[in-house]
Parts: sequence; C-alpha cells; structure tokens
Amino acid sequence: MRIGIDIGGTKTDAVVISDDGRLIERIRLATGFGADAVVDSAADAIRQLLERTGLRLDVVRSVGIGIPGTVDSASGHVSHAVNLGFDTLDLGDALEDRLGVRVRVENDVKAAALGAYSLLAGPESETSPASMAYLNLGTGLAAGLVLNGELWRGSWGAAGEIGHIPVDPSGALCPCGQRGCLETVASGSGIARQWQTTDAKPAQSLFAAADAGDPYAADVRSRFVDGIASAVRILVLTVDVDTVVIGGGLSNLGSPLLDAVTAVLTEWAESSPFIASLDLARRVELLPEGFPAAAVGAALVGVVPGASAGGATSGTGAATTSTTTGTGTGSTDATPALVPTSESSM
Ligand SMILES: [Zn+2]
Repeated sequence: MRIGIDIGGTKTDAVVISDDGRLIERIRLATGFGADAVVDSAADAIRQLLERTGLRLDVVRSVGIGIPGTVDSASGHVSHAVNLGFDTLDLGDALEDRLGVRVRVENDVKAAALGAYSLLAGPESETSPASMAYLNLGTGLAAGLVLNGELWRGSWGAAGEIGHIPVDPSGALCPCGQRGCLETVASGSGIARQWQTTDAKPAQSLFAAADAGDPYAADVRSRFVDGIASAVRILVLTVDVDTVVIGGGLSNLGSPLLDAVTAVLTEWAESSPFIASLDLARRVELLPEGFPAAAVGAALVGVVPGASAGGATSGTGAATTSTTTGTGTGSTDATPALVPTSESSM
C-alpha cells in the first residue's frame, strides 16, 4: 500500500493505493493556513486514512506529498507556497519527525503528471505511452513531464514551466515580471483578469456568454483556447510527447474545452503541412473528471518504473532523485499501474 496526499490551497486530497495501483481509499479535508497548520493537515489526513483502512504505517511502502510551490524533492523543502500562508517549510522533515517514516515531497503539478501517467499506462488502458505531458489548467498554467516513464524535473526543477513563455510582447504584465506570458491568457487568473463575474465558476460563465453571442466573451475565450493550443504545440515541439493530458480545475469545462482546443489545432494543421504531420489534435486528452491525479502521483513519487517489486524498499526507503542537487539515488520500488476503480471516476 502507498499513501499520497495532495495539499491544495483550500483542500487536502488524500488516497491509499494498493501496490498494483488500485485506489483503496480517498478522503478530503480542509487545508490549514500557515506552516504548522499545513503539517497538521497532512498528518491528520494520513491518520484518518490509516484508521479507515486499518493499515499500520510501518507496512505502507511509501508516503508522498504533492504541494504547490518550489519543492526540493531530495530534502523535502518547500518554498514560495504563497497560497498556503508560508514562505518556506521543511515539510519532509516535519512530517518524518511526526510520523517516523520517510515522506517524499514533490511539486503538485509534477505529482499530478505521475498520477495521470499511471492512469494512461495502467493494465486496463489500450495504449501505454512512453511519454506524456500533463498540462495543468488552474489558477496558473504549468506542465509536468513524464519521459520514458519517469518524471522529468529538469536541471533546476523548472521543466514544464511553460506558462511563463511570453507569447505577446504587448500583452498583460505577468506576476513573474515578464509581459504577455501564456499564463496571462490561458489560465484561471487570466480569465479572472479579463472576465469579471460574480459566478462561482468564471470559466463556465465565460464559455456560456461566448456561446450566447457576447463578442467580448468570444474574444477572451478565443485567446484562452489559442493559449492552450499553443501550450500543446510547445510541449510537442520541445519533447514530442505521445500524449498531452489536460487537467487542473479548468479541465472541468469538459468536452467544450477539448473540442475548442482540437478545433484550433486542426485549423493550424490545415495551413501548415509541418504541423499537420505532428497530428497534435490526436495527442490531446482530458484527465477524467474527479480523478485525484496529484494525490495518486504523490504516492508514486520516487518510485522507479520497471524495477523489480521484489527489491522494493520499505516506506522509509531511498531518497528520490533530485535534479536540483543531483545527489538523489532513487528507490528500487516498482511502479504500480493504476487501475481506475468506480471511486476513481467520481
Ligand atoms: Zn510569467
């Protein structure tokens, strides 16, 4: 069994998955605000999962946390987690002191990439891609990369930060200090800036207004969709992934979003034989709604694909590979292929 926790700005999503990848239990709790409260939330989630499943922590093979911000996955140090109310936190150490087992920590989008990949590569899936990009459409825009079955962080952990690729020199100023970043149009914050509404779901409100013929809404939606299509094109042109899975809060827009993005990609293909040859539209998928990709992925952080299950380490096992320090060793656990259960398709 493995435990994965996804600590979000408002809620903490926690799962137990079996060694063969089945979702065994899932709970959601409110996330506390501030460093101590975040540690408490994670510890509380783990305690509740153990209670519900009757598991003991010493038989759990891995415990992983996905969390927004800059994460040093070797040390478990988290910084710039602004929405969680702290600037810096040794989350891995704090939880290890509390629980007595090793706890792996990963950036939430990178964890979600592992979770999405486990779903695609599972035994019940028809295709098992070697490579995948997970495009997270949330408040921001970022991607996680799984190449040859392994999470690719890059030298400094910045791989996949495509939301900060400037695409419009006269565009809006981005919080990162650059102008016209993809994220300023193709994200929740981009929509919020351009589409003021009291609707609890601004993106749905935007799509509805555009469908109803509001020309301004159509314009904002068009920039949003073009931005996502650009992100897909960037991901394929840089790493040529088999599949781009769109997830994150805005993926709840569902098929109207997927249809709009594939329509733009198809239009680009019609005017460029080169783009046509890449078959971009065929590579895009939506993450199944409700699938807890970041929590499932957190449970798999540090698990090396293809290794023998017989050589598995315990939950207190080897360090995750860190591209930040280059000193990680990786564990010898096998990657369980995630089998979606009825619970996973909520
Ligand atoms: Zn930016």
